[in-house]
Amino acid sequence: MDPFDSSPQETSPQVRRGGVERSTEPNALTVGAPVDLSCDECGAPVSWSPGDRALRCGHCGCLTEVEVDEVDVEERPLSEASDAARGFGLEVRLLACEVCQARVTFDGATISRSCPFCGSPGVLDQEASRNALRPESLIPLEVGKDLVEANFKAWARGLWFRPNALKRVKVGSAVGVYVPAWAFDARVHAKWTAQSGTYYWVTESYTARVNGKTQHRTRRVRKVRWRSSRGERRDDHDDVLVFASKGVDRDMAGELGPYSTDALVPYSPEFLAGWRAEEYQIDLLDGWDLGRETIRVRQRELCARDVPGDTYRSLRVRNEFSDVRWKLMLLPMWSVTYRLGGKSYAVLVHGETGKVAGKAPYSWAKVGLAVLVVAGAALAAAALSR
Ligand SMILES: [Zn+2]
Ligand SMILES: [Zn+2]
Repeated sequence: MDPFDSSPQETSPQVRRGGVERSTEPNALTVGAPVDLSCDECGAPVSWSPGDRALRCGHCGCLTEVEVDEVDVEERPLSEASDAARGFGLEVRLLACEVCQARVTFDGATISRSCPFCGSPGVLDQEASRNALRPESLIPLEVGKDLVEANFKAWARGLWFRPNALKRVKVGSAVGVYVPAWAFDARVHAKWTAQSGTYYWVTESYTARVNGKTQHRTRRVRKVRWRSSRGERRDDHDDVLVFASKGVDRDMAGELGPYSTDALVPYSPEFLAGWRAEEYQIDLLDGWDLGRETIRVRQRELCARDVPGDTYRSLRVRNEFSDVRWKLMLLPMWSVTYRLGGKSYAVLVHGETGKVAGKAPYSWAKVGLAVLVVAGAALAAAALSR
C-alpha cells in the first residue's frame, strides 16, 4: 500500500493500544516470525504514520500505538554475532538494485519497481535474507511527506548560482526509507612514541652584498631541539557510526547531520509497516573495519595532542582494542529524486529533522544552454537570410 494515499476516513480516530498481534512464543522474534500488520477493526493493512506516531489503517483510519519494550538497547560484543536475532520479523520482499547494489524492502502493493536511491528500473525481486542480523534499534520516521516537499522547495529556492528552473522543480519521487547503520563502542589503550620538538632561536651571521659592498648582518633563525618521548592513554569511544548502506551516498548522508540517539527505540517491525528499509550491505566485520579505522584516526589525533613540546615527528601509535560492542540500527531518511534538464538528481532528507542534502546542477549549465540557443538562433537566422 502507498502510505501517502491512506487518507483517514475518521476525523478523530481512537488510539488503541496493542492492537497489533505479536506471537507470544518467547523466542518468536529471534527466529524471525512475521508480525501481523492488519487492522483489528477491518483487517485492512496498517502502516506507520509519522504524523500520528502510530500505526494507521489505510481503510478505516483507526490508529494503533506501537508498544515498545521498555528495555535498553543491547550492545553486543563483536564475538557474539552468532546468537543475535535475524531477519526483519516482517513478511517482506526485497528489490535488489543492479546499479547501486541497494537491497530495499517493499510490500506486495508497492507499485513503483524502481530503486528508491538511484531511480534505476533495473531491480530484481528477491527474498529478504532471513539470515541477516536484525537491527536492535531504530529511530522512528517523524518527518512526513508534506514537510519533505516543503523543505525540498525551500532548499531548491535557497541554492545560489543554479538554473532558474530549479526554483520551479517538483519532487519526482519521495520514498521514506530506513537506512541501516552500525554503531560501535570500543575501549582503546594506546601507546605512542614520537620525537618531540621544542623551538629555540639562534642568531646567525651572514654576509650580503649591498651596492657592491659586502656587509655583515645577523638574523634570528628558528631551530628545533628533538628528543624522544613516549606515553599512553585510555579512551572510550561511544557509538561510532558506520553506514551499512550501499544505496545511500555516504557524503550526502554525512551532510544530513547527526541523529539523536535519545530517540532510539528497540526495533519493532511495526515501524517499518508501509515504508522501505534497506538490508545492510556492509556486514558486521567489514563495518567494524571501517569503524576501527575511524577510531584509529581519532586516537592518532588524541595522542598527537599528548606529545609535549611545540611540534612532533615520527609519531607511532599502537592501539589495543578491548570490549568492542556493536549494535545495528535503522535511521530514517527520505530519498527524493527530481528531474531537471533530462537528468535525474538525488536528494536526501533527514527523517527526524527534515534537513535537506542533495545535488543540483550549477547555472553554467543554463549559460551553456543559453549559448546553444543563441548559436542555434544565429544559425537559423543565417539559414533564413541566404
Ligand atoms: Zn481498519
Ligand atoms: Zn539503485
